[in-house]
Amino acid sequence: MSNNIRDVFGSEVFNDYVMKKKLDQDTYEELHKTIDSGKPLDSNIANKVAAAMKDWAIEHGATHYTHWFQPLTGVTAEKHDSFLSGSDGGSPILEFKGKELIKGESDASSFPSGGLRATFEARGYTAWDPTSYAFIKNETLYIPTAFCSYSGEALDTKTPLLRSMEAVSRSACRILKLFGNQTKRVISTCGPEQEYFLIDRDMYARRKDLIYTGRTLYGAKPPKGQELEDHYYGMLKTRVQDFMRDIDIELWRVGVMAKTEHNEVAPSQHELAPIFTTANIASDHNQLTMELLRRVAHRHGFKCLMHEKPFEGINGSGKHDNWSLSTAEGVNLFEPGSTPEDNAQFLLFLCAVIKGVNEYQDLLRISVASAGNDHRLGANEAPPAIISMFLGDELDEILNSIIKRERYLGYKKTDMETGVNVLPHFLRDTTDRNRTSPFAFTGNKFEFRSPGSSQSIAVPTTMINTIVADVLDEFYEELSEAENLSEAIPELIRRTIIENKDIIFNGDGYSKEWLEEAERRGLHNLATTPDALPHLLDEKNVELFERQGVYSRAELESRYVINLENYCKMIRIESLTMIEMAKKDILPAVSTYVRKMAEAVSCARSIADVECGFEVDMIRNLTALSTNMYKKMRSLEELTQSCPENDNQKLAEYYKDTIIPAMQKLRLVADEIETLVGEKYWPYPTYGKMLFAV
Ligand code: ADP
Ligand code: MG
Repeated sequence: MSNNIRDVFGSEVFNDYVMKKKLDQDTYEELHKTIDSGKPLDSNIANKVAAAMKDWAIEHGATHYTHWFQPLTGVTAEKHDSFLSGSDGGSPILEFKGKELIKGESDASSFPSGGLRATFEARGYTAWDPTSYAFIKNETLYIPTAFCSYSGEALDTKTPLLRSMEAVSRSACRILKLFGNQTKRVISTCGPEQEYFLIDRDMYARRKDLIYTGRTLYGAKPPKGQELEDHYYGMLKTRVQDFMRDIDIELWRVGVMAKTEHNEVAPSQHELAPIFTTANIASDHNQLTMELLRRVAHRHGFKCLMHEKPFEGINGSGKHDNWSLSTAEGVNLFEPGSTPEDNAQFLLFLCAVIKGVNEYQDLLRISVASAGNDHRLGANEAPPAIISMFLGDELDEILNSIIKRERYLGYKKTDMETGVNVLPHFLRDTTDRNRTSPFAFTGNKFEFRSPGSSQSIAVPTTMINTIVADVLDEFYEELSEAENLSEAIPELIRRTIIENKDIIFNGDGYSKEWLEEAERRGLHNLATTPDALPHLLDEKNVELFERQGVYSRAELESRYVINLENYCKMIRIESLTMIEMAKKDILPAVSTYVRKMAEAVSCARSIADVECGFEVDMIRNLTALSTNMYKKMRSLEELTQSCPENDNQKLAEYYKDTIIPAMQKLRLVADEIETLVGEKYWPYPTYGKMLFAV
């Protein structure tokens, strides 16, 4: 197959171009009404679309189809059916009906529902999301779907995302009308930058911790880490380059607009960024990207690690969720315009984000809470757990001049009649790239940098859409009653900035001073997942989501339960893995090594009266350390066995306050032992080998 990007891009996608070619005009137009305005698809039309999709898929070598969905496990799920529906005199009858395209039944009982199942129904169904194109992968036609219970509760991350997109569109369109803009739809757009590690597959296979938990639970620091910063944007090694070439092509085939590939700060760490697109598609595409990264890595003899913190002492991996709003005509609403009208509109939307982030800091923090991401946030490599916003010096000055009712003395300083200053046209690169800020305005979009590398962007994006929608509604209510809009708008802007300026912070988010300052400002500091999650059910949050029709109370409760359970399960698995590694591999290895030393001493001394200083020291040190390690392991074992029962919140706090510290103590001794034991006796590939041998 040709690698020409023109031939490759979208070649496995049932996209608009293919639809136009394969469907008759009426069917195509009807389908478009569904895509563009959410109009339900008539069953006749659905049958025609399904038949065309099937023929196209079979031409492309597909034998099966699957509804592809995103349950609350955090990974995607699929159930494959073949197109075969019988045979006629020995020749196959291949069928795919409209109803199979539109709706799939699925036994929801083995997916997490966090209590929704008990309250509602065991069965679930998947419903086609016609706004995200079907595609072919591994001889299977993938149909992107939403996953709901029979009574309509969302059992996935996509349904709330779609609802939040509707909400923000509705709210933004109303505001835009005040500015004379009649756009029919406002689209939330996302471009997620994905970080990951690549390590050798054979080494991975020898590490139980990576296999069971995705991260190393033991591992002494190698002599060289990332201090030289020689990996960042460094030259790609041939093997990695081959991998990246391949991943791009695989992604292009299924329509993912992979754009940039580069090395990251840590050794063996890389990043892939796509061109931004509509939020639900970007979210589907990010799931596909993670899956293909894993698959293609395997083919190249690599293991792709998507965990937020695979290696201690080395940067972890995040996923920057770049977000903006655009009109149906493709005008970015966060592009600071150069005319006064645009400025007021830009500033009003900017204020909606500022106020939303300020009032719902907790939700943004919750949307990225997981056991894995807790290692990253606030660890001097990723934004702190405190949510704040970075606007850059220039915008900050503009907001200050609005507060003071002064003219902004930037390089373009025409006043609008109403007192709103004209903004200079931001050049993207003039905005300082403050990497420590969780939520940064980067010229014409926002960049939410807290999400972890393995997390779906659906949840954080749902939060952003919803909070912005809600503030826009509040603005609309106020402005629609105003007698004089051109006075009311600047006043509203000014008041919003004054009331919410505490969320804006342009300084160093890693500094100790910021911790103190943030506390003075009364910002949330929800350091860990068990600290953050309960706030999901705060009354103000439940009301917000119900008001915006994004999550019902029951849906929120279910997410709280599932996330808390996941946290507990994860730490438990980590603890058990550490215990097993200590008991079965590390301590026996130390024992073998000590015995070798002892044999060497007695052998040497049988020949001559020698000191054997090295061996004797090792025996002394290692036996003392291994006794200590054994005690730490036993203690972790006992603590893990005596976990409190029945109350998940208490259990999560116990894991955080008791188990994690016990794990750290065990690791500390083990890592010291690792530095002493002869390399060929050590049961696992070392950090040095895993990070630098690729
Ligand atoms: P970096 O943050 O590394 O400097 P870029 O600024 O090039 O990277 O872009 C990061 C991501 O932001 C890309 O995936 C890009 O497509 C995305 N992006 C750019 N504009 C928008 C937008 N209007 N809406 C959403 N994402 C966007
Ligand atoms: Mg970025």
